[in-house]
Amino acid sequence: MTDAAPPVADVDGVAVPTGHLIGGAWVASPTTFESRSPLDWDEMLLANVARGDEVTADAAVAAAVQGFRVWGHYSPVERAEVMHRLADLIEANNEEIARVECLDMGFLEESMKLRLVGRGAANFRLYADLVVEHEDRRWDAKDMDNHVLRMPAGPAVVITPWNAPFMLSTWKLAPALASGNTVIHKPAEWSPLTAALLAELAVEAGFPPGSYNLVQGIGSEIGAALVSDARVRRITFTGSVPTARVIGKAAAENIVPFTAELGGKNPLVVFADADIGAAAKKAAWQYDDSGQVCLSGTRLLVEESVRDEFLERFHAETDAMVIGDSRNTDTDIAPLAHPVHRDRVDGFVQRARDNGDVIVRGGHKMPDSLHYEPTLIEPKSNDSEVVQSEIFGPVLTFQTFADEAEAIELANSTDYGLSAIVYTGSRERAERMGVEIRAGLVWVNTFLVRDLTAPFGGCGISGIGREGGEHALDFHADLKTVMILDNTTS
Ligand code: NAD
Repeated sequence: MTDAAPPVADVDGVAVPTGHLIGGAWVASPTTFESRSPLDWDEMLLANVARGDEVTADAAVAAAVQGFRVWGHYSPVERAEVMHRLADLIEANNEEIARVECLDMGFLEESMKLRLVGRGAANFRLYADLVVEHEDRRWDAKDMDNHVLRMPAGPAVVITPWNAPFMLSTWKLAPALASGNTVIHKPAEWSPLTAALLAELAVEAGFPPGSYNLVQGIGSEIGAALVSDARVRRITFTGSVPTARVIGKAAAENIVPFTAELGGKNPLVVFADADIGAAAKKAAWQYDDSGQVCLSGTRLLVEESVRDEFLERFHAETDAMVIGDSRNTDTDIAPLAHPVHRDRVDGFVQRARDNGDVIVRGGHKMPDSLHYEPTLIEPKSNDSEVVQSEIFGPVLTFQTFADEAEAIELANSTDYGLSAIVYTGSRERAERMGVEIRAGLVWVNTFLVRDLTAPFGGCGISGIGREGGEHALDFHADLKTVMILDNTTS
């Protein structure tokens, strides 16, 4: 680590710090890694970003321990004031954040501007309000005054993935900070830049030194060092199953509570009694953002009797989607975020071909860009790799079912259980599917809307724990029960 002011990258007119924010100061590292744009991988080098190591991790945790002595004693109202100021600043910088996220990760710029930057601000507002409104339980029992207190737990490591990096970071940082914990945020190395903008805004909002720390670098290097540090008292992770296994072991070693929001292989179930046009439109919409969304309904399960009608409408909807530059407002399908990921997606399709699965549409890389053709595969069996493994690209599978029992069986037939989408015209069936599907979220006749206070998380290998509303506050607090025998005189 060096103390010389680290460079700031000019990303299409937006100044983005490329160092680590530790103890309120920006610091550089002797080595860097490249952040390139998926919009033009060879030509657009956006920034050389500090590549943190064990020394950086040690300094960041030390700063968070120090910062906890201050931030951990802020009252909920004082914390809420800073968090609302950060939300104001996020809203005021909507355009800059949207532009940098679009260039860095390839996310559709218009979606960022209209939805996700605002959602990021809303995360800070929600937790600012919740922590102020929260009333601890007090009750009389056993001749004692019983009182529950929430204690901030200490430094929290927040590790986020490369897809939707800005919104997912706010979602995890806001409850940690609202609870009085200090944070060390480690964003993904494929899309590190909007995390740097957020950290810069946090300083401007008035987070005291050491309360909000950001480190940049490679997961297996600085990420591994952070999660192994015994001074860390919470680890909250969003990413892949293999990484969760590694982090979970480190958390267990230090007896640290750990949440994991992981992948999905979510069913999109269409019954014959549904509005087939609406269902087909939503199914095609799963190609939006090139399928790089954990909640995407990637397994299309359609009642046999409406197979042809559904497929005809689905193909028409998909044909109408515009594959293009994420900066253009008419683009529906963005490029994949990284060449390694594009090749990984292609590998799944190649193996499906070799396996005898039927490629119904698409199935190829697109020339001169990181786009991949919107792909539909009819698998040879439910055991095919493309049915059972998360691909995280614009690749959907198509299967049919005879009746509701078979639909439920297929929907629940993977190790994942993050979310599900159901299309039906029957309220009774909607209720039954809500009960029977094994997933943390079930949407019926809708998709991707969620009140921020509702719990969020997965079953099976889709995760451990729940985020959202009070659930995340419970995770970040150490709850303490105080019992006072009622014989005190003053
Ligand atoms: P990943 O597991 O490769 O990386 C996630 C983060 O972990 C990155 O910041 C990375 O640097 C870090 N990391 C990697 N190795 C580490 C280690 N040994 N110790 C500490 N940190 C380490 O995941 P990804 O490819 O960035 O993200 C895609 C995955 O995330 C998909 O599976 C997707 O479904 C999932 N996801 C889940 C949700 C959800 O809410 N359930 C949301 C978005 C993405």
